[in-house]
Amino acid sequence: MVVNVAIDGPAGAGKSTIARAAAKALGYIYVDTGALYRAVGVYVLRQGKNTKDPDAVAALLPEISVELKFLGDVQHVFLNGEDVSTEIRTPEASMAASAVSAVPAVRQFLFDLQRDIAKKNACIMDGRDIGTVVLPEAQVKIFLTASPEARAMRRYKELREKGAEDTYEQVLEDLNRRDYEDSHRAIAPLKPAADSILVDTTSLTLEGAVQKVIDTIKEAL
Ligand code: C5P
Repeated sequence: MVVNVAIDGPAGAGKSTIARAAAKALGYIYVDTGALYRAVGVYVLRQGKNTKDPDAVAALLPEISVELKFLGDVQHVFLNGEDVSTEIRTPEASMAASAVSAVPAVRQFLFDLQRDIAKKNACIMDGRDIGTVVLPEAQVKIFLTASPEARAMRRYKELREKGAEDTYEQVLEDLNRRDYEDSHRAIAPLKPAADSILVDTTSLTLEGAVQKVIDTIKEAL
């Protein structure tokens, strides 16, 4: 069986940066499942539909094809053949992703795609429900977290570097709302798998967090 590592945790815990670096060091591919929900969210926004209306969202699914391709070791997400890897990173896309991810039909729609990648590739897959729902048999499960303020500050700096004008307060508010919605939804809520290992990155540097995750994976294997 190929090695599968599940990393779950709230927005801004550093999952993608840390998982990407750890995957590179260990020779696994890195799969960012949030990108899939973001691509669906972007499609719903483009169609001018309400991302919070489960029926409207579910009705669009037959029109959507989402694919992940790995160019070098960089994941690109394709929406109906178009590379939307940049567009899915806006704050609007984040909120849309969070909204559509609460729709059971969307989770079902993306489930096989995620399992299929994990079956074929040694990978670190990150998301919200990887250890609990998508890959409950993953050999290593990590729940990566940090305080809301530390997470909001990181996200704020990231957005600023990209030229966005959001204030820290806005970012913190969005993040708290997303955390709440992700943890309280009826289906696949964000929560640590019973057998997951908790890694708190609040007081770690990025390098420290990457090392901690690599050590945790090596020890668990
Ligand atoms: O991780 P990222 O911030 O890109 O995820 C965007 C949104 O997609 C999250 O707020 C969450 O609602 C949803 N998501 C999910 N399950 C996953 C990955 C992401 O519900 N496995």
